[in-house]
Amino acid sequence: MRVYNFSPGPSALPLPVLERAAAEMTDTNGTGQSVMEMSHRSRDFKPIIEKTEALLRELMGIPANYRVLFLQGGASLQFSMVPLNLAGVEPKSASFVETGVWAKKAAEEASKYLEVHTRGSSKDKGYTYIPAPLPPEPGDAYYHITLNNTIVGTRWASLPDTNTVPLVADISSCILSEPLDVSRFGILYAGAQKNLGPAGTTVVIIREDLIGHAPSWTPAMLRYDIHAAEGSMYNTPPCYGIYIIGLVLEWLKGLGGAAAMGKLNREKADLFYAHLESSKLFRSPVEKSSRSLMNIPFVSTLSDAERRADLDTRFVKEAAAKGLVNLAGHRLVGGMRASIYNAMPIEGVKALIQFMEQFEVSHV
Ligand SMILES: *Cc1c(COP(=O)(O)O)cnc(C)c1O
Repeated sequence: MRVYNFSPGPSALPLPVLERAAAEMTDTNGTGQSVMEMSHRSRDFKPIIEKTEALLRELMGIPANYRVLFLQGGASLQFSMVPLNLAGVEPKSASFVETGVWAKKAAEEASKYLEVHTRGSSKDKGYTYIPAPLPPEPGDAYYHITLNNTIVGTRWASLPDTNTVPLVADISSCILSEPLDVSRFGILYAGAQKNLGPAGTTVVIIREDLIGHAPSWTPAMLRYDIHAAEGSMYNTPPCYGIYIIGLVLEWLKGLGGAAAMGKLNREKADLFYAHLESSKLFRSPVEKSSRSLMNIPFVSTLSDAERRADLDTRFVKEAAAKGLVNLAGHRLVGGMRASIYNAMPIEGVKALIQFMEQFEVSHV
């Protein structure tokens, strides 16, 4: 039986994608091979990576002066690659807005190579809002934000004005969840395992003029210029992940692309937030104007910490018994969290709301 999987990542994939991958497992495109068995430089694999890139370009509206790279190392490696590759731009400094754990890690990693300017932080309220961002400092090589904050469930509703300083965004948990103007950014990066495919592939979208500034001592595997020159084939790319991303993108295109997806995601999130507003037992800890469409934490209104923890445990367990799984909140936030990425159908959100209504009646 398929469950409704609310995991923050790796997360649910669309059922038609999994079924197609299963059907093509031993013989893909009449090659008599699984994608896992193909040489990455073969005539069989070439159309697969080309199709994935073309679909990503089409669905995200990626301008011609941007390169698309399929790398490994997760979003976390980009925390290092971005400063390493832009460190050649003097003076060595960059701006960061601290909106949560991932944003903080990106800044900490960059501080090994650059001077970090913190241009806003919501740490004072447990990252439950997006702070008003200060402009970049003169000479900053880039300005980094985490567009959707997976753990606490916030999202930038509008982008900071960074003048000519390239805006760099971690879009791991919101890529293709709604339309995004790529031309506003210098670099976008995302680990695939939230909204795009399986773990192991990282998508990097980079404006061409930002390629080629890495200091000469930078390890080859960490250089954008080498990966770009080799078409993501400097070494063996994550072939199977790239193939699955291609299937996910085809599925997304079939649904009407980023605009249609955005509308559906808005509908799903509105439904769930409206339920939280009307609930007497649960509430959202996140400020209204900063609420994520993808990750929705919720906590109970019980004042006693022990009773609250007990209720959380019961909730997660009873939900799982009904096929609503992976609802435990992040250990830093507590409570529960429903991650409702692109692959979560609106029926899953409705099923969760129905369960919460029943739970509320029987436990209060
Ligand atoms: C999950 C996540 C990461 C970490 O991704 P890895 O691929 O595991 O390195 C970084 N940033 C955001 C916003 C995330 O959601």
